[in-house]
Amino acid sequence: MRNIYIVGAGLSGLSASIHAIVKKFNVKLFESSNLIGGRCRSFFEKKLGIEIDNGNHLVFSANENFYELCKIVDSVNKIETLPPNLDFFDLKKKLYWNLDLSRIDILQMLRGDKNLIPQTSLFHYLSILKFLYVNRKKTVAELVGNSKIFQTFWDPLTLGVMNTSSDYASAKVLSNVLKKTIFKGHKYCNIYQPKKNWNDTIINPCVNFLEKKGCDIKLKKRLKKFDILDNYVSTMHFDDIKIKINKEDLVIMAVPPSNLKKLFPSIEVPTEYNSIVNVHFNMPESLNERFSKKIIGFINTNSHWLFFKKDHMSVTISNANSYNNFDSEKIANIIWKEICSYMKIDIPVPEFQVVKEKKATVVQSPSNFKIVKGLTGLPKNLKISGDWTQSELPCTIEGSILSGKQCLLN
Ligand SMILES: Cc1cc2nc3c(=O)[nH]c(=O)nc-3n(C[C@H](O)[C@H](O)[C@H](O)COP(=O)(O)OP(=O)(O)OC[C@H]3O[C@@H](n4cnc5c(N)ncnc54)[C@H](O)[C@@H]3O)c2cc1C
Repeated sequence: MRNIYIVGAGLSGLSASIHAIVKKFNVKLFESSNLIGGRCRSFFEKKLGIEIDNGNHLVFSANENFYELCKIVDSVNKIETLPPNLDFFDLKKKLYWNLDLSRIDILQMLRGDKNLIPQTSLFHYLSILKFLYVNRKKTVAELVGNSKIFQTFWDPLTLGVMNTSSDYASAKVLSNVLKKTIFKGHKYCNIYQPKKNWNDTIINPCVNFLEKKGCDIKLKKRLKKFDILDNYVSTMHFDDIKIKINKEDLVIMAVPPSNLKKLFPSIEVPTEYNSIVNVHFNMPESLNERFSKKIIGFINTNSHWLFFKKDHMSVTISNANSYNNFDSEKIANIIWKEICSYMKIDIPVPEFQVVKEKKATVVQSPSNFKIVKGLTGLPKNLKISGDWTQSELPCTIEGSILSGKQCLLN
């Protein structure tokens, strides 16, 4: 039986392992840390006394590879499906509005009776048509930067989907997302959230599936070096073990680009990253029943998205490199003030924890996608996987899972 050695137990490595096991290969999975899940993980946060996710991951119902993986590992019942109906709050203009993609009434909009976003008309939404055909070199700001709904729609959407400012984000990749979601209809724009947390919905079910099928998962095993012979990987060197690799075996590297580059210094990979900061707050008792929506979009604020969870509140700041050196107390104070302004409350900052993911995603610019598309110079019995290896999709859970599956396609 062919041996498949997979390095990295984030979602791409888990997906590659599961698709390899389904194809009846002999799979060994190696992870350098003592946790599975990589950038999508949950953990018990001592200070808050609850289990939290590192970040507020959001998945669209259009993400068929995510759903397929949940079906394989029998965790579809752990997904909560929210309709594409979000509340927004503009702090500067003190405006509140609701965007319900399932109830767009073009006639009402034509008559000017109702609009999706305050102070706009139907005409302003025509900027979406520019995404039908997009030049690969263009950024989102170059494509729709002049649109009246840039600040209230295109810019927050780009940050949310691509963790990259519109000035740098690839318009082509955002266009691919729109073609799979909004252009196809509201059924593809539902939002998947974990009923409890992401460990419970996807990570643990993947691990349970793999263990039941006999996959050997080894934690605390960092791959340090390869030996290459005739352009094939011949040995993998971990801290304390060496593994001989045959030409007909397959090695799948499911690691971020900076980790791959350490092993293959001559290859060209994206080197710029954007961070994401999440501020998790214990839920003050007096707020328990005060919200009907689970996700709120913030405009003209430091906060981008506010998530109401069962036992805590959590705010996401995307494209957050400028916060990397801020101390956590300062970030929490800034964000709590914005929440108070939105909720029209005046409550002291509850217990909080700030999670900074400094390498949350690579910068998703036209030039970085071009580098990924042209990546060469790897041994013949080695494939790469990971969110960043997809040149047509943003760095997301869907992209990671698809990239793992693609390694097993031929
Ligand atoms: C805060 C945050 C919020 C996000 N929000 C969303 C969202 O809303 N929606 C969405 O779809 N996506 C979101 N993402 C992106 C999503 O989490 C990632 O795309 C996905 O988790 C990446 O998975 P991966 O397997 O490609 O990489 P990783 O999760 O980085 O996994 C790589 C693994 O390889 C291991 N490794 C590295 N080097 C070695 C080595 N030499 N030897 C052995 N192991 C090694 C690492 O320890 C790691 O576990 C978010 C990410 C973050 C950080």
